[in-house]
Amino acid sequence: MSIGNVLGNDKRGRIELGAEKKVGWDEVTHGVVLHSFEDDATDVSSRKAEDRNYAQFSSYVATVASWRVIKPVYNRDICIDCQNCWIYCPDTSIISRDKQMLGIDYDHCKGCGVCVEVCPTNPKSLLMFAEAHNPEDALASWPEKKKKEEK
Ligand code: SF4
Ligand code: SF4
Repeated sequence: MSIGNVLGNDKRGRIELGAEKKVGWDEVTHGVVLHSFEDDATDVSSRKAEDRNYAQFSSYVATVASWRVIKPVYNRDICIDCQNCWIYCPDTSIISRDKQMLGIDYDHCKGCGVCVEVCPTNPKSLLMFAEAHNPEDALASWPEKKKKEEK
């Protein structure tokens, strides 16, 4: 399964939050509810994501990618599929299927770097790079395995 199959449809990430002036977080009425779906969601779990009628401000439809200044880059060659990054990511932006790490959901990743901190491999399988950094260049410059310090 490719990441494109997991994320790829024309609804996901099509609205960029913050691109135009909307209500700020400190202006929202207390107790307001943002519904996830536009219509009756009774049978939503039986529908494929692309067939669900997501509301305009659901995290599925909206993207916050423009908030990020640094991004994690994933190196499949080193990853051991331990799932640490998936467990700890505060934005559910690690894509994993059947306990296999597939990559980063760049529509929702905020660039916090938590996934890099919890990655146990040597060298790490996720590293932070500038947002504009080309992923192929990032992979080409990946650090070597660190040797244990002699006592
Ligand atoms: S940088 Fe932060 S938000 Fe992005 S995938 Fe890693 S833990 Fe998640
Ligand atoms: S924490 Fe590192 S080794 Fe574990 S699944 Fe994530 S990228 Fe792979």
